[in-house]
Amino acid sequence: MQINGLQFINFSSNDYLGLANHPSIKQAVIESLQSDQTSYGAGAAHLVTGHHLEHHLAEDEIADWLGFEGALLFSTGYMANLAVQQALMQKGDVILADKLNHASLIDGAKLSDADLKRYPHLDMQALERRLQQTQQQNSQAMIVSDGVFSMDGDITPLAEMQALAKKYQAWLFIDDAHGIGTLGENGKGCFEHFGLEPDENTIVVGTLGKAFGTSGAFVAGSETAIETLIQFGRPYIYTTAMPQINAVAIRQALKLVQQAKASRETLKQNIEQFKQAARQIGLQLWPSDSAIQPILLGNSETALQWSESLKQDGFWVTAIRPPTVPKNQSRLRVTLSSAHSPEQIAELIKALKKLTDQAAL
Ligand SMILES: *Cc1c(COP(=O)(O)O)cnc(C)c1O
Repeated sequence: MQINGLQFINFSSNDYLGLANHPSIKQAVIESLQSDQTSYGAGAAHLVTGHHLEHHLAEDEIADWLGFEGALLFSTGYMANLAVQQALMQKGDVILADKLNHASLIDGAKLSDADLKRYPHLDMQALERRLQQTQQQNSQAMIVSDGVFSMDGDITPLAEMQALAKKYQAWLFIDDAHGIGTLGENGKGCFEHFGLEPDENTIVVGTLGKAFGTSGAFVAGSETAIETLIQFGRPYIYTTAMPQINAVAIRQALKLVQQAKASRETLKQNIEQFKQAARQIGLQLWPSDSAIQPILLGNSETALQWSESLKQDGFWVTAIRPPTVPKNQSRLRVTLSSAHSPEQIAELIKALKKLTDQAAL
């Protein structure tokens, strides 16, 4: 990327498959506009007159691809996450959320009338204890978690969670913002990564501004869940539908994601190359196999200094500090893409080695 005339290699974007600037997505948009079949704007909310054919087709194609009865488009992942808990959970119900969930899931819990209880990161025993309490109170529970944790890169233990959700008849709501497109042989995300199929009680949010390279998000789930969201989801009802032309871009991106086996393989290799080389120069990485590779530095000043120094060397790596992450866990959040070349990754490691050498002095 270029900022004020200076060139940087971007290691902070979520464009995991390099689709954000893909010529065939641009082409699909141009052709659709030129054919005069689509307007740019939707003109109204979905329930008024804003729901156009392209939205409808995108929803059907996403649901079919992931094996759900239905899917619903939202303008952003943030809004999708506001809607799910608010629409499906009532007063007296209990939301059980991982402590490191994305901010939008926390805000979503606040918008609902249900009680929020958080469990320690990835701790399935703690989750089960809370499910038992919820059962004793005769309350409906919803388990809510990132699939791939956005600031940490680790993946939630989905098989255990699915079993717990079944045992306690709870909803299982997974925000797979960073898994959709990147994980699993066909890019279907966390569920495919673990060889699992979604159940009737499963709800998945996928964002379309990350691996898809477009913008917006979807909620996928059973017909009942989707119908409830349409009828009661305030962040769905009280807002203008996303531009129709964005749904055209999403449909093209879906085709590319479905065909992106080679890119997913390249992404895997890039992640492996980075992890091995980073370990060799003594960097402390978070345990992550995903495209999100945090370098733990502890205090905010060091994270900022390192980020600044990498900038001088032509690499853009954002420092992540509290309140986005807990105190004393400031980090550089490196994200890898299939669009990175092995040389670019090797150069980043060289620039990082200058910093580890200095720190050792
Ligand atoms: C990016 C992100 C979101 C928000 O998606 P937007 O489309 O950017 O609003 C939600 N959840 C997680 C885990 C994310 O990383």
